[in-house]
Amino acid sequence: ITETEQAVLDEIDEKEIDFLRLQFTDILGTVKNVSVPARQAEKAFTDGIYFDGSSIEGFVRIQESDMRLVPDPDTFAVLPWRNREDGSSARMICDVYNTSTGEPFEGDPRYVLKQALDRAHEMGYTVNAAPEPEFFLFEEDEDGRATTTTNDAGGYFDLAPKDLASDVRRDIIYGLENMGFEVEASHHEVAEGQHEINFEYDDALTTADNVGTFRTVVRAIAAQHDYHATFMPKPIPKINGSGMHTHISLFTEDGENAFHDGDDEFDLSATAKSFLAGILEHAPAITAIANPTVNSYKRLVPGYEAPVYVAWSDRNRSALIRKPAARVPAASRIELRSPDPSCNPYLAIAVMIHAGLDGIEQDLEAPDPVRDNIYEFDEAKRDEHGIDTLPANLGEAVDALEEDDAITSALGDHITSKFIEAKRQEFEEYLIDVSEWELDRYLETF
Ligand code: GLU
Ligand code: MG
Ligand code: MG
Repeated sequence: ITETEQAVLDEIDEKEIDFLRLQFTDILGTVKNVSVPARQAEKAFTDGIYFDGSSIEGFVRIQESDMRLVPDPDTFAVLPWRNREDGSSARMICDVYNTSTGEPFEGDPRYVLKQALDRAHEMGYTVNAAPEPEFFLFEEDEDGRATTTTNDAGGYFDLAPKDLASDVRRDIIYGLENMGFEVEASHHEVAEGQHEINFEYDDALTTADNVGTFRTVVRAIAAQHDYHATFMPKPIPKINGSGMHTHISLFTEDGENAFHDGDDEFDLSATAKSFLAGILEHAPAITAIANPTVNSYKRLVPGYEAPVYVAWSDRNRSALIRKPAARVPAASRIELRSPDPSCNPYLAIAVMIHAGLDGIEQDLEAPDPVRDNIYEFDEAKRDEHGIDTLPANLGEAVDALEEDDAITSALGDHITSKFIEAKRQEFEEYLIDVSEWELDRYLETF
């Protein structure tokens, strides 16, 4: 038992925690729970908790289904939305091990991210990341099911009384703070019913853990207010969708921001530019991971502040990568604008890191930034600037992923094959479906 583990055991005693939820994430990014009585905490640290992995999406084949969860004591948090009467609960995020080999399970997304961090570490870097998850709050119908009726008609940074959700958002923020989040800012987003809550950047692993927690807290607390919070990327056509822009920077071992260079026109070091070029190079394959649903591609269209074109900019929001203005050197970073909140944050951040490190290893040079609104470029103008287009749909993105060896080897064989299989099936189901739009358009015309 380590010191941190002992501190967790003490806290469980002090706070009279009855249940522990041991969490991990499947390949598709869904948080899974195994609940154990809190008195098993010590055993969880020393031996791990065994579970049947065959029932988890894309985890294992039936014949090798025994998995072991080992909780990470750094992720201990008391769940804020449980009533004392039902017994209070806490959670810890776990690493998954294969029981037959004793090795980390290669299908565990958290392990994939850890490997990306190891690679960065070998090159002399630590990685910081911060996500900007956006979401909608919708009303529920009489049966408690989600509708797409927004709970307000607010717009960007609007204040009450238009922003009726501000008290929901306030409770969400209290919930997040109770779970150890440092909330930086929250605001009403551009679309009606759309919100964004930003939390402090952290090391990339903590940030990926936080995204799963964030989604859980937001949904649970919205539900207490009889709202349905959704992270679906584009729930309503013709208005902005929900992104999860991800800011990233590398720091050296002695705590310097490796992305900062005060002498550069954009304050970006050569390292940052190669990293950025690596992401641009692998952008199509990254898209499959960062935008993993059929619906993701309804967001990646011109005109709604979401990226469509593979370019970077120090100004405008139509580019895939933006260099945000930084007040202090430590804040120099790049912002990838394609990820949406339906992605698996461990895998999305892992592939960004690998793509960027690849750029550094190969000494790639970034193209010039594009300062005009790329949505307004025609094809000829895009060609002139050498600007490619992101995959147009999930099918194209999965094809691009399959062809990108750097990204598939970052994910490992297990996750690559399970992911591609699941996503091909999802796309095929979508292709054979007949949508509301088609019926409206054709049923009475032909
Ligand atoms: N909602 C926009 C998106 O889909 C982003 C708006 C913003 O710049 O925050 O990415
Ligand atoms: Mg935003
Ligand atoms: Mg942003």
